[in-house]
Amino acid sequence: MALTEGLESIFQDVIKRNPGEAEFHQAVREVLESLGPVLVKYPEFAESKIIERICEPERQTIFRVPWQDDRGEVQINRGFRVQFNSALGPYKGGLRFHPSVYLGIIKFLGFEQIFKNSLTGLPIGGAKGGSDFDPKGKSDNEIMRFCQSFMTELWRIIGEHTDVPAGDIGVGGREIGYMFGQYKRLTNKFEAGVLTGKGLVYGGSQVRTEATGYGCVYFVEEMMKAHKNGLKGKKIIVSGSGNVAIYTHEKATELGGKVIAMSDSNGVIIDEKGINLDTIKTLKEVERRRIKDYCEYHKGAKFVANGNIWDLQCDVAFPSATQNELTGKDAKKLIKGGCIAVGEGANMPSTPEAVHTFIEAGTLYGPGKAANAGGVATSGLEMQQNAARDAWSFEATDTRLHSIMKNVYQICSEAAEEFGAPGNMVVGANIAGFIKVARAMTAHGIV
Ligand code: NDP
Repeated sequence: MALTEGLESIFQDVIKRNPGEAEFHQAVREVLESLGPVLVKYPEFAESKIIERICEPERQTIFRVPWQDDRGEVQINRGFRVQFNSALGPYKGGLRFHPSVYLGIIKFLGFEQIFKNSLTGLPIGGAKGGSDFDPKGKSDNEIMRFCQSFMTELWRIIGEHTDVPAGDIGVGGREIGYMFGQYKRLTNKFEAGVLTGKGLVYGGSQVRTEATGYGCVYFVEEMMKAHKNGLKGKKIIVSGSGNVAIYTHEKATELGGKVIAMSDSNGVIIDEKGINLDTIKTLKEVERRRIKDYCEYHKGAKFVANGNIWDLQCDVAFPSATQNELTGKDAKKLIKGGCIAVGEGANMPSTPEAVHTFIEAGTLYGPGKAANAGGVATSGLEMQQNAARDAWSFEATDTRLHSIMKNVYQICSEAAEEFGAPGNMVVGANIAGFIKVARAMTAHGIV
């Protein structure tokens, strides 16, 4: 989609100032494509260069992470924390450990996080961090040594009122635990609110593990309800088999859908009877094995090595693995196969061509920054509980999450309507998320 002249010039400047960071460029462009009408209605945002300022992280930290593997050999990774925007509250956003991590990935995720966090209605700014460390195949001791070394640098720039990291790809409860332990040791403080996604026995919140997946399903159910439809009886595909994918499966199944395929980076499993979630949880959460092993336990299931999950037919798709995993061609196949709704559990899983294909076809499309906001929202609830030295029940927390996701849908829907794109959740999410941050930045002056 073409940008107005002013926005195109801002975009070209972003490319020039951030060379080689393709994912960051993509994330910025997608937001700018929605903002033309906002600048017409609020010219003051253009005058005070809010967009130029929002595209420039407030602070970026890159650091060395040395550690020793089990053979005693020294390994060196690179750590990142990009503190993007603190207009609405302390920086907040996950840490990703994956070999593909470089500055451009962290910046795209941090940029998205600003608008996502704004949509939750909670007082949290946007950030992201991580490392090019690959946790796959590492022993528990290696993971612990890496996490301790990572935190030995990170602790200087985080804090419950400053910056509150959480998990993302490759960072779950185990890693958060090791990092929390090291932070506690370095600072001599039990500062529960410094990390979220903690274990329940030391300040974690009920539902945080489930939150992103559950929240994504709540969002999609809301979107379908507005069109007098729902997940009941629907055939569903969920890509990935990590935290987001597992709890998307759980909630979608609870609401009457049937998940027939999941994946990991080695391939796709298909089980027309419905993928057995207990087996997936055991394989992925406990034994840390590959998804192909599912077929050892379910003889009717099929594994397609290096398969493309979007070749399959479904009613509803939940891309929940990684960025740019669903192309324009995949989107066309899905639509042809009868797919009526897409909920992005992952961040930016659809390429720009795929997004435009879904929007043009009238597919009910929930972009990541709205549909997967339930994870960070529940992290916000974890911070509230930590601040109050309190712990809420599962039911109470889930009820809050559900109402937050309904509200995210509502405000995206209203913004889309107000700015001339009814039903377009991309436009709605970008505009609603942006306006709140822009107003706060305006109130703070040129900082
Ligand atoms: P996990 O590490 O728990 O799971 C990631 C899953 O995606 C795994 O099945 C993994 O397979 C697969 N995957 C990762 N990278 C690739 C790749 N390059 N190609 C193919 N498959 C891949 O991560 P999460 O479930 O936490 O995160 C998934 C997505 O959801 C990410 O985009 C993340 O940013 C987003 N997200 C997560 C939130 C959270 O609360 N955790 C919140 C909001 C968004 P394999 O094991 O083989 O690598």
